[in-house]
Amino acid sequence: MVKQEFKAESKRLLEMMINSIYTQREIFLRELISNASDAIDKIYYKALTDDNIAFNAADYFVKITANKEARKLTIADTGIGMTEEELENNLGVIAKSGSLAFKKENESKDGHNIIGQFGVGFYAAFMVADRVTVTSRALGSGQAFKWESEGADGYTIEPAEKAAVGTEIVLHIKPNAEEDNYDEFLEEYRLRAIVKKYSDFIRYPIKMDVSGQRPKEGAAEGETPEFEAYTEEQTINSMVPIWRKNKSELTDGDYEAFYHEKRYGFDKPLKHIHISADGAVVYRAILYVPESTPFDYYTKEYEKGLELYSNGVLIMDKCADLLPDYFSFVKGMVDSEDLSLNISREMLQHDRQLTLIAKNIKNKIKSTLLGLLKDERERYETFYKAFGRQLKFGVYNDFGVNKDVLQDLLLFHSSKENKLVSLDEYVARMPEDQKFIYYATGGSIERIEKLPQTELVADKGYEILYFTDDIDEFAIKAIMTYKEKQFKSVSSGDLGIEPDADEKQEAEEPSSKALFEQMQTLLSGKVTKVKASKRLKSHPVCLTSEGELSIEMEKILSAMPN
Ligand code: ADP
Ligand code: MG
Repeated sequence: MVKQEFKAESKRLLEMMINSIYTQREIFLRELISNASDAIDKIYYKALTDDNIAFNAADYFVKITANKEARKLTIADTGIGMTEEELENNLGVIAKSGSLAFKKENESKDGHNIIGQFGVGFYAAFMVADRVTVTSRALGSGQAFKWESEGADGYTIEPAEKAAVGTEIVLHIKPNAEEDNYDEFLEEYRLRAIVKKYSDFIRYPIKMDVSGQRPKEGAAEGETPEFEAYTEEQTINSMVPIWRKNKSELTDGDYEAFYHEKRYGFDKPLKHIHISADGAVVYRAILYVPESTPFDYYTKEYEKGLELYSNGVLIMDKCADLLPDYFSFVKGMVDSEDLSLNISREMLQHDRQLTLIAKNIKNKIKSTLLGLLKDERERYETFYKAFGRQLKFGVYNDFGVNKDVLQDLLLFHSSKENKLVSLDEYVARMPEDQKFIYYATGGSIERIEKLPQTELVADKGYEILYFTDDIDEFAIKAIMTYKEKQFKSVSSGDLGIEPDADEKQEAEEPSSKALFEQMQTLLSGKVTKVKASKRLKSHPVCLTSEGELSIEMEKILSAMPN
């Protein structure tokens, strides 16, 4: 039997491509700029091995020009260009990637940055343009060619004039339709913003003519200056991403500036983490622990996630998979060449590398926070005031699965010295005869201090952790034990403290029996038992619970909606 080749309805295919691959139209610019950058990269790599090609950095750039009146947006580059045949093959054949082929041919050469691989990005231009004209002159060729298409109907190629090597792409921007605004793609500020968002770290300059008003020079002091209109060419991308620089070249101020530029927060970052990993998975990251709680942090509206870049090009704004919930306060970005992207480059294909990166990042955050706790206690407490609750939720939500990550990061207010202590500090100074880690629950420190239940424990000289946050006791229950010590509420029935011999006797005195029975009848339905206690010192009476749940927990649980 003869095997038939699949035939594709290329018109339909192209329509599908144009309309269903991308979720956002603005992506077209990212795709065209990535192609331009690839084209320049190709000259760069050729120059590495061919002495006849000189690579003079100043000659290589991308230029974006918008012409509102003519509704034309031009993206020009001084890259390697395309021959007639290449125009035919690369732009005329869907899913054919000249860049992928180039990458494969030059695999032996180190450190390529070529972005293209799927051979579809170019067609994104048709999301915003009803006609696209590509004029290109290939390196080493005297003749330029013009490729033109109105989308699904096909394309034409004819000889053209072009003075320099490179490619110029003209998008004839669609007219505005009822709900579709295309004008924005001719607006300088909007184009700038799109470039900044996706292509800020393209290695070559992306230039644009920027116009505005500025004060005229020569105005005398105190006089209101006159303004003049100006237009000048500016490079709008940062080019060298801060995360590719060496840590030693960067100051705290640089990291802070990046935090603000990226609008990770309006506060100051409390701590930054700069990672450059070359192990099982290669990636770079800059992460921040913010100083204060974002206003929506403890609401459903808050979205966790890190920016994800592939080779300097933004892929995702908020990649949630990179952060566990308990570290959802961390801001920042990750850049990796090792990601398998899906065809739209808006998502990831499968997540093996991502899982590795996420695990790595989690460990870095943990060790950074532990370091902060150890070496910069005050700053750690600032952090803890802002986000400690989230760590406690973290222990509780996963039923203690993550306690190894989190338990050493927890702080609680302590009866000793009226300070926050970690569990490690508590256990380290426990007297030898103390069996449990004691805690007391209440609405505030003042209220807990007045609890009769704390007296006996405090009298023994044992330290008590004060749980003032609803979540505290739940988190502790999820931890269960810390360094083999169990947690014990001061209001639990058995405190594990041996009473002195004479106290014991007094409590078992049968004379009070009738009184207790009488009280129990009076309080029936409210308490299960009235008995003599050895723990009271200055208070006449106190409440205790016998089961697993403390009185405070019972209160919270019964207040929760079912
Ligand atoms: P990809 O970039 O994934 O390969 P595209 O559809 O974006 O796919 O581009 C298809 C091909 O067209 C590229 O691989 C490249 O060979 C060629 N190409 C596109 N734009 C340019 C350009 N500005 N200069 C040179 N070649 C280009
Ligand atoms: Mg491309």
